[in-house]
Amino acid sequence: MRLGIFGGTFNPVHCAHLRMAVEAREALDLSRVEFVPAARPPHKSGGILDFEARCRLLEAALASCPGFALSRVEAGRPGPSYTVDTLADYARRHPDDELFFICGATDLVSLGLWHRGRELPRHAALAVLPRPGATRAEAEAFVPRFWPGAREERAGVWRLPEGGAVHLLDAPLLDISATLVRARLLAGQSLKCLVPPEVEEGLSALSPEALAPWRGEARA
Ligand code: ATP
Repeated sequence: MRLGIFGGTFNPVHCAHLRMAVEAREALDLSRVEFVPAARPPHKSGGILDFEARCRLLEAALASCPGFALSRVEAGRPGPSYTVDTLADYARRHPDDELFFICGATDLVSLGLWHRGRELPRHAALAVLPRPGATRAEAEAFVPRFWPGAREERAGVWRLPEGGAVHLLDAPLLDISATLVRARLLAGQSLKCLVPPEVEEGLSALSPEALAPWRGEARA
């Protein structure tokens, strides 16, 4: 099986996340995409909805998307949710599958700041989608700098000297972020077409206490 692993804070999941998964699935012929919310994101502090609340919103969003599923695997590990550990765990549990870690180009170009970011492709090929802030060309220029000796096997597919690959995918740029969704919600504005209707409903059903992390973030 060709399996996509889509990690993120998903605070909350939004329409660009879903579209990214569709783009990656079609471009790479993935049988399944698992959305893996970070239980304890190492790079973001405060302002994050409770893990279960983020999972419920994801479940609601994914219910109408065949082939997409939620994974709570990071909740089972103590300490910060490092992506390298998650991918190593996937590789152990899926020895016969081809794994692809889906991420935005802004994440790729900041990989030097991640815990053992250079090692991610040892466990899963990277599937990188353009995002406002980092085009495909910018992501591409980054690959041989970060992994010296990387060679472009064919357009958009780089083989790395220590094994593994980076796939640079073409996709429409969608200027939607969870930051924008949170700001709109806190301002009492509509989330229509920024998040799926099920997520809009789920968010409107959350208690003020559940949304407190976002309100705290807005005051900071
Ligand atoms: P925040 O605004 O809170 O930082 P976010 O919208 O970036 O959140 P994350 O859950 O942190 O959402 O993102 C998960 C993954 O999806 C990351 O790899 C991120 O780069 C990517 N991503 C998020 N939004 C987009 C987008 N509009 N286009 C391309 N990639 C995106």
